[in-house]
Amino acid sequence: MTDLLASARLTGLAQAAYIIAGVLFILALAGLSKHETAKRGNVFGMSGMALALAATVVLALRQTSLPGFSSSVPLTVLLIAAPMAVGAVIGIWRARTVEMTGMPELIAMLHSFVGLAAVLVGYNSFLAAGQATGAEASGMESIHAVEVFLGVFIGAVTLTGSAVAYLKLSAKMNSAPLVLPGRHWLNLAVLLVSAGLLVWFVLDDSAAAIVPLAVMTVLALLLGFHLVAAIGGGDMPVVVSMLNSYSGWAAAAAGFMLSNDLLIITGSLVGSSGAILSYIMCKAMNRSFVSVIAGGFGSDGAVTGEARDYGEHREVQANEVAQLLANAKSVVITPGYGMAVAQAQYPVAEMTRKLRERGVDVRFGIHPVAGRLPGHMNVLLAEAKVPYDIVLEMEEINDDFGATDVVLVIGANDTVNPAALEEPGSPIAGMPVLEVWNAKEVIVFKRSMATGYAGVQNPLFFKDNTRMLFGDAKERVEDIVKAV
Ligand code: NDP
Repeated sequence: MTDLLASARLTGLAQAAYIIAGVLFILALAGLSKHETAKRGNVFGMSGMALALAATVVLALRQTSLPGFSSSVPLTVLLIAAPMAVGAVIGIWRARTVEMTGMPELIAMLHSFVGLAAVLVGYNSFLAAGQATGAEASGMESIHAVEVFLGVFIGAVTLTGSAVAYLKLSAKMNSAPLVLPGRHWLNLAVLLVSAGLLVWFVLDDSAAAIVPLAVMTVLALLLGFHLVAAIGGGDMPVVVSMLNSYSGWAAAAAGFMLSNDLLIITGSLVGSSGAILSYIMCKAMNRSFVSVIAGGFGSDGAVTGEARDYGEHREVQANEVAQLLANAKSVVITPGYGMAVAQAQYPVAEMTRKLRERGVDVRFGIHPVAGRLPGHMNVLLAEAKVPYDIVLEMEEINDDFGATDVVLVIGANDTVNPAALEEPGSPIAGMPVLEVWNAKEVIVFKRSMATGYAGVQNPLFFKDNTRMLFGDAKERVEDIVKAV
């Protein structure tokens, strides 16, 4: 009796800890929405996770110590501690070794693990229900059967979708869209067949219900692969945040299957914030949200822009750029993925400081999909201690280029490509870009005339007011810092 009472109290305490953890996760998300409060947001998130973990472990240990439980406390401790230790070692090693430019693919890979976990939890729920009621029957209530089916479906789509995103982002797979004939009908057919399999799965309470579950798993794995493989060009950022959202829903589904309230809350927070981010990014890129989640629905599958002859480009040397900057009144820097590759943010911050000391008005223009991760450039500039108030969003700065003396395009390409506005057939057509060409002088820092992520030629490089400063962005900016 006392044992039961203690157990009820402990469960109550764990539930209270879960609610506090849920509130901390909400505060974390709120904090992460602004530069100034992002660090605090992270601390809230870490504290929430530590609390949730501690409550879950205590609860698990308490349950195992109750009479009638087949596992012993030491065995449970071992079963929890061993995978946690392995996970922690791998996690710490990856966190220390991953380059900032490798973050997107790492995140995509982690999303696929969440998907895999949801699939495994689903199968475990199904098999455990069968064991509880005898091998002949699946023994699940209809509502639980629906939870299991949907959990496995979302998990499987997330698993292969994220794996393809990982391969595309790490350049292990061609980033061009895979255009199968009748691809949207194929997706629709998979959805319809899966709906039929759901009905079969729910109505069949024998062990044979594993058949519709297994067939649906294979179909969902193929659907995840196809949905993401069909998206290419500059639309990958939306996919990354969309898979983030799917991984949240997969975690929430696992929460329903395990009857774990905190997992449901956390999964829903990740799912809905990822969906909101995807929507914001779609709006920023002038893409239809529905078309992107339906695997590029409505796009004509353009892969690369046609090769046009834009004429000759002109080159410039670092000391000439230093001279230009010293005489300028207003300078705007538009960083892109190349700044991240070169790790040029520190000399860029140093150059900014020097120019501001000389009275030059220096500001940054950040495109919403610059780099390979939402907020990628903001993180790098914050790391190098560039003041937040001179870092502006695209829509805040786009009208100011006409009154700007010099624009420094540092490792950006697709995000400053006028073809998005001028060439309707281009794969990036319709995407708003930083209209840097309206400035008096444009200096482009890159190593060659190669295209950017979307594989599209950039007519900016051939405009009369553009000059190319070739070489590694970090080395070229350091040359300028020395010469200013
Ligand atoms: P891009 O990827 O279009 O271009 C980057 C440029 O940097 C390249 O042309 C490259 O040219 C140059 N570069 C690479 N390394 C260096 C170096 N060491 N020094 C100098 N230059 C270098 O960059 P943007 O940021 O403009 O655009 C981002 C693209 O990535 C968009 O198409 C976006 O859709 C996509 N994307 C964005 C995601 C996000 O969430 N932000 C996620 C996934 C994709 P060169 O080789 O000649 O040096």
